[in-house]
Amino acid sequence: MHFEHSEKAKDLQRRVAAFMNDHIYPNEATYHRQIAEGDRWQPVPIIEELKPRARAAGLWNLFLPESEYGAGLTNVEYAPLCEIMGRVPGFGPEVFNCSAPDTGNMEVLVRYGTEAQRKRWLEPLLAGQIRSCFAMTEPDVASSDATNIRSSIVREGDGYVINGRKWWISGAGDPRCKIAIFMGKSNPAAPKHQQQSMILVPMETSGVTIRRMLPVFGYDDAPHGHAEITFENVRVPASNMLLGEGRGFEIAQGRLGPGRIHHCMRLIGVAERALDAMCARVTTRVAFGKTLAEQGTIRADIAESRMEIEQARLLTMKAAYLMDTVGNKAARAEIAMIKVVVPRMTLRVLDRAIQAHGAAGVSRLSRSWNCQKGQTQDPAKTRVSASTIANTAAVTCLIGVEQNGLRQLAGGRRFKPALSSAAAAAASAQVKRHRRLRAISRHRDLADLVHERVSPRARLCEHFHRSVRDIKADLVAGRRERHQREPHVCRRRGRVVKPVVRQHARERGARGL
Ligand SMILES: Cc1cc2nc3c(=O)[nH]c(=O)nc-3n(C[C@H](O)[C@H](O)[C@H](O)COP(=O)(O)OP(=O)(O)OC[C@H]3O[C@@H](n4cnc5c(N)ncnc54)[C@H](O)[C@@H]3O)c2cc1C
Repeated sequence: MHFEHSEKAKDLQRRVAAFMNDHIYPNEATYHRQIAEGDRWQPVPIIEELKPRARAAGLWNLFLPESEYGAGLTNVEYAPLCEIMGRVPGFGPEVFNCSAPDTGNMEVLVRYGTEAQRKRWLEPLLAGQIRSCFAMTEPDVASSDATNIRSSIVREGDGYVINGRKWWISGAGDPRCKIAIFMGKSNPAAPKHQQQSMILVPMETSGVTIRRMLPVFGYDDAPHGHAEITFENVRVPASNMLLGEGRGFEIAQGRLGPGRIHHCMRLIGVAERALDAMCARVTTRVAFGKTLAEQGTIRADIAESRMEIEQARLLTMKAAYLMDTVGNKAARAEIAMIKVVVPRMTLRVLDRAIQAHGAAGVSRLSRSWNCQKGQTQDPAKTRVSASTIANTAAVTCLIGVEQNGLRQLAGGRRFKPALSSAAAAAASAQVKRHRRLRAISRHRDLADLVHERVSPRARLCEHFHRSVRDIKADLVAGRRERHQREPHVCRRRGRVVKPVVRQHARERGARGL
């Protein structure tokens, strides 16, 4: 694995960080104020104001890998940029047109869209003029197993008719959300993984109704939001089908990997930001005659956080590296691991940061207070409280993400689910045999080692053991006379030898020797 970034990647890191310093951190308070006032479900003016600047600076659509549309960065090159943008969840990535779920949806269109589909939907998405959503999850079925999805996509004449109820559809609350990638069953009689399709559904089509916006731990995440949507006899042209009927899983596999890297790196950015906020806070707060930073447990918390962030980042970079070099499929274990490791780590770091902030750490009101204080050119010194960072969709949905990731590990191919009892017994016997063989081979290695380094004592030991083996063989063969000739061998110690000695003694005694 190569850890060194290319000059191109380093240059982009410097430029994205500089843009964050100049335009994003100083405007965080404005961003929160603008969402709070007026209609919360309208685009945020400061984002629209900053987008052209990011575009002019060449910091636009950086997520797209090698293609005519994007920056052509590998996962390893893009990951650190994601971390820098992720330091300001929501606001940061959107200014660079690098926010979910648009990034994943644009990738789908680049990889699997037809010329006409790209022209109609990809181009305005790339230009940041419209937004999109991904409609898979359904309230009625366990959607972590996508084979459960029940919504129907039925061919009728030159189009498809779509019916179903979806929920947690992120981004659907934004009035600029114009297109949904809808997953449903088109071929119920086909093999399990060929029943699903993905199809493009314009949000303005008749029969598409947003029923409500779902709060995440009490936060509505406006203007992005997570919607419950019904699709009732929604008719779309047949040309809206992506890749072909029954190929929904194939598309889902392609979409999955890069999205995980992006989410995880953004979360690492959140964790770094929380740690910065914690360090800034504890160096200025004095309790019991010392700054908090001088208290042992606080220092330990900072050290733990630093170590955990580094570990999580290395694992994520490994996943990115494997995706670049051997592909998403080969990297699936690492992709599943980061989905668990990174959210867990972020929650722990946030928890420590909240604790170090005392009561301010749990207060939502501290958001604007901290954003005002946070107007500094140096992100390392930015004083945004942990609660500011914690009170975001990115973090509040973590628990679900983590649980789902654990399930993937438990149910994934490399971590087989429980076997039947007979199969489990056979597997256990095989494992025991394997261990025994390993133990024997280890002893053999040791014996060879002793033989090679023949010290006189070792030779003596070896001679002794050989003698014992001979005695055993002799006993079996009934050649006991030899032991009468060599009683000294038998007198040597050992559990096996003693009974032999006693037997000799008895025989010798009987013969009056
Ligand atoms: C903030 C947020 C945003 C979202 N955005 C979107 C979006 O844009 N589009 C979209 O389609 N969906 C979205 N989702 C939904 C998300 O993808 C689903 O919640 C997720 O796939 C789990 O499905 P489910 O809710 O039906 O849970 P279920 O499938 O009912 O699972 C319930 C629990 O059981 C666990 N579980 C399942 N199988 C196993 C197993 N074999 N072993 C052990 N545990 C298991 C799961 O991990 C989970 O913890 C979003 C969710 C949230 C919270």
